[in-house]
Amino acid sequence: MNKNVISRNSSRKRVLVTGGAGFIGSHLCEKLIAGGYDVLCVDNFYTGTKDNIHQLLAHPHFELMRHDITFPLYVEVDEIYNLACPASPVHYQFDPVQTTKTSVHGAINVLGLAKRTKAKILQASTSEVYGDPDVHPQPEAYTGKVNPIGLRACYDEGKRCAETLFFDYHRQHGLKIKVARIFNTYGPRMHPNDGRVVSNFIVQALLGRPLTIYGDGSQTRSFCFVDDLVDALVRLMNSPDELTGPVNLGNPGEFTILDLAEMVREMTGSTSPIVRHPLPADDPKQRCPDIALAKRVLNWAPTVPLERGLERTIAHFDELLNGKGSAAIRASEFEDAPQALAS
Ligand code: NAD
Ligand code: UDP
Repeated sequence: MNKNVISRNSSRKRVLVTGGAGFIGSHLCEKLIAGGYDVLCVDNFYTGTKDNIHQLLAHPHFELMRHDITFPLYVEVDEIYNLACPASPVHYQFDPVQTTKTSVHGAINVLGLAKRTKAKILQASTSEVYGDPDVHPQPEAYTGKVNPIGLRACYDEGKRCAETLFFDYHRQHGLKIKVARIFNTYGPRMHPNDGRVVSNFIVQALLGRPLTIYGDGSQTRSFCFVDDLVDALVRLMNSPDELTGPVNLGNPGEFTILDLAEMVREMTGSTSPIVRHPLPADDPKQRCPDIALAKRVLNWAPTVPLERGLERTIAHFDELLNGKGSAAIRASEFEDAPQALAS
């Protein structure tokens, strides 16, 4: 007898979001709850927080489970979004062995879960699978240039291996998989202290501290606002089974890090100086998604220009640093921007 059928007491789709208390995961949980899904958020709070999902905790169709996905998980679900993994270089390099375990053991565990429950499963992969690319912009067919023994490898190679596992489970066991290659995403609820460039610059500018540019600031990134990204993830999950990906998801608007620093200074009215720090090892020189595939098969393109997204992100950090709400933190609690771990 099918246990799935016995345990169903509602027609709502049961969706597991691993890493649901993180930056992107919390926005995804909100969107899924608003869309009428039953959401199980699994997180070990390595970089995520209960504050990110406090607004959902009392919702009857939201459930939170503290669990580390490097250990097996037995739940009954229809769809899985696998987002669990620290995403900021400072965080993923803090315990690199755990980072690889989260990507690889974690993928094996959630794929095993998908196999048992026949759930559709989406992997939050990354533009980092392209490494320091020599093809620009990066299409999905580009196989990348990753240093397998560098400081970023725990993340880059972990995510590459996870993609391999997803495709092997698909070929070998017929799993319904979706692989999203996510490019730099930003927005409210980024960790204020995680060292990523958007959060660093905004917090530094709001606190009147120097903006830390690594290298000469000529390296480029393409920044996607979180609402656009989450919309694309849900579209990908709901796409026909034949569409496995990988699909690039990001905003093709490309900016140098120096451009970004100037924009943040102007938009916050800050007079903070710019200071230079050494470029971290293996820091990609340029990154820009080719999103032709996403446009064609998901009918999706980002809608929020960088300036609008920055306004909303600045407002969030302003409230966090200066607001009176429970989430407000005092400036004194904010360490100086974490430096690149080694160069
Ligand atoms: P985040 O660090 O805010 O969120 C990751 C979440 O996973 C956190 O809540 C963390 O506590 C949880 N987690 C980490 N290890 C875990 C484990 N072993 N078991 C259970 N939970 C665990 O990062 P984010 O920016 O929200 O990224 C979410 C996903 O998207 C990640 O998989 C990341 O690799 C991917 N991604 C993000 C970006 C980006 O720019 N933000 C870009 C490319 C890919
Ligand atoms: N960066 C910077 N100053 C900072 C933080 C980051 O100049 O305070 C640079 C970093 O070296 C990289 C780019 O900004 O070239 C994006 O860094 P982030 O950590 O946000 O993401 P990733 O390198 O993973 O794209």
